[in-house]
Amino acid sequence: MSAQLLKGRDIAAKIKEDIKAEVESLKQKTGKSPKLVSIQVGENAASAVYIKSQKKNAENLGIEYELKTLDAGTTEESLISEIKKLNQDKSASGIIVQLPLPKGIDLRLAMSNITPGKDVEGMHPENLGHVLLGDAKFSPCTAQAAMTLIESTGVKLYGKEAVIIGHSEIVGKPLSLLLLNKFVTTTVCHIATGERGVLPEHVKKAEILVVAVGRAEIVKGDWIKEGAIVIDVGINRVGDKLVGDVEFEKAQERAAFITPVPGGVGPLTVTMLMRNVVSAYKEQV
Ligand code: NAD
Repeated sequence: MSAQLLKGRDIAAKIKEDIKAEVESLKQKTGKSPKLVSIQVGENAASAVYIKSQKKNAENLGIEYELKTLDAGTTEESLISEIKKLNQDKSASGIIVQLPLPKGIDLRLAMSNITPGKDVEGMHPENLGHVLLGDAKFSPCTAQAAMTLIESTGVKLYGKEAVIIGHSEIVGKPLSLLLLNKFVTTTVCHIATGERGVLPEHVKKAEILVVAVGRAEIVKGDWIKEGAIVIDVGINRVGDKLVGDVEFEKAQERAAFITPVPGGVGPLTVTMLMRNVVSAYKEQV
């Protein structure tokens, strides 16, 4: 078997068409466009890549994008005061804080100061709580992207066995709840699972496998269950190439569906962010 590629770029393109049309119609009704304000504290090469992609995506969709760059020496207090100003600013539909933040700034505290209605990354405790309750307006964008890719296969999810490797707050933990809300039997593996040496056992039973670790090809192709859906969230630079967390070539021979890296989860993550900005704007006007 050779797996069908889940091309995030293609799925994102369809969703973007809808977002663009919606932005256009909102603009006609309200005379204004949704706006995403991004706060960056200090300069960072990794966040520069994300900012460029967010700006390009926003512009293509008719969403305004404003980058506020704060000095690297910015204190936690002044970052929070900036966030509070944006909470009150009617022109800002969504707020996003770029990572990494300098040492001494508590990310959770920063996130929890964004008003939930403008928390388009879905990281405010209130929004995360709604993910648990199954009625979230905003859930973390990467988890949403992985879920969208899984649903794009058209496979009936009810009762399926899923294994997620990685229990971060942006991917593994919220995705486990999104899957659970669809009655998927979900196992979450993490560093301790890896250290115990039992990752292959878990992976072998996964009808849906999501890997979000950040270690090149940590999941071997011959662990993959025949016919599985494989979502590879990991992005790792190996020499001049980007590779995922799954040994792609071998996994492709066993899976039914698999995401490429790059071009899988990434393009959908930024699309989910844009969709959230438009939803936020709609609630606000
Ligand atoms: P993280 O560092 O916050 O979490 C890593 C997770 O992997 C943790 O749960 C940890 O316990 C687990 N882990 C580490 N070593 C392990 C091992 N040996 N065995 C099993 N589990 C192990 O990572 P994150 O922020 O969730 O990101 C994970 C990867 O996904 C990174 O490569 C990141 O670049 C990528 N990512 C991609 C997107 C996208 O849009 N494509 C978005 C976010 C993150």
